[in-house]
Amino acid sequence: MKDQDEDTPPVGAECHICLEGGEKLTALGCACRGAAGYAHVDCLIKYAASVRDETRKFAVWDVCLTCNKEYTGDMHQALACAWYEKKRFLKPDDEERLIASHNLGTALYNSKKYKQCEELRSSIYWRFYYSRVHGPDSPNTLRSGSSLANVLDSLERSDEAAKLHREMLTRKRRVFGPLHISTLNSAMNLGLTLNVLGQHEDAVKLLRKTLKTKRSVLGPKDQRTLQAANALARSLNGMGRQKEAELLLRNTLNLQKTILGSHHPDTLSSSDLLENLQLPEKIKDLVSSMQEQT
Ligand SMILES: [Zn+2]
Ligand SMILES: [Zn+2]
Repeated sequence: MKDQDEDTPPVGAECHICLEGGEKLTALGCACRGAAGYAHVDCLIKYAASVRDETRKFAVWDVCLTCNKEYTGDMHQALACAWYEKKRFLKPDDEERLIASHNLGTALYNSKKYKQCEELRSSIYWRFYYSRVHGPDSPNTLRSGSSLANVLDSLERSDEAAKLHREMLTRKRRVFGPLHISTLNSAMNLGLTLNVLGQHEDAVKLLRKTLKTKRSVLGPKDQRTLQAANALARSLNGMGRQKEAELLLRNTLNLQKTILGSHHPDTLSSSDLLENLQLPEKIKDLVSSMQEQT
């Protein structure tokens, strides 16, 4: 059964900030679901501008304080644009301005505006890199370098992407250590790029190790562990090991549906991949049923 379309608020839904309903409610796109998963864009912008969560610094603009997951979709884009607009007149190397720009890059990426995203991310990366405040090994530089590599992937500039992912992985291992989530994410992204480049064996080897480490560091049900399982399934499929890929993906998808909901981008990525894996089988069934009929 198909879940309710989350773009349409359920009857009785209200903005969790002003407690009013109406047509202008927008889905938060985090893991808050049902009637609790909506707000007015303007209400959330005012809230984000007024709250300062010192422990997480600027996270109120991109992370839901109720479920601790990032906003996605229209809500993320609206907040990213509003945050960037408020900070873009600060000094070019102001930390919040750079982070708001980085976040806008993510919104551009998610709305598939890859060329604009690449221009923005490239300028942020080099600004962090050469900044006296940050420098080449600062967390912000490493994070923006990885984001730049991700958009190069989307622009199908895979050789450049693999080179940058590898560089980030080496520097993150040194700066953060091998068990840090950011290091593990770089290993995962490098694995995915190697898969695209046809280097399936190297990809599977790296992704198996990454998934194992994420399971022990973060636990088997963490969103980021499930992303690594999706990546490994993708590479196993690239290597021609469909059965193994399908089994892994089925388990991953079940957990993602429970933890993130059916409409979360991570869940959709796994269900699309599973559908593609099953496609050859379905075509085979169709052909044999046509043969039976003749
Ligand atoms: Zn409201
Ligand atoms: Zn939430």
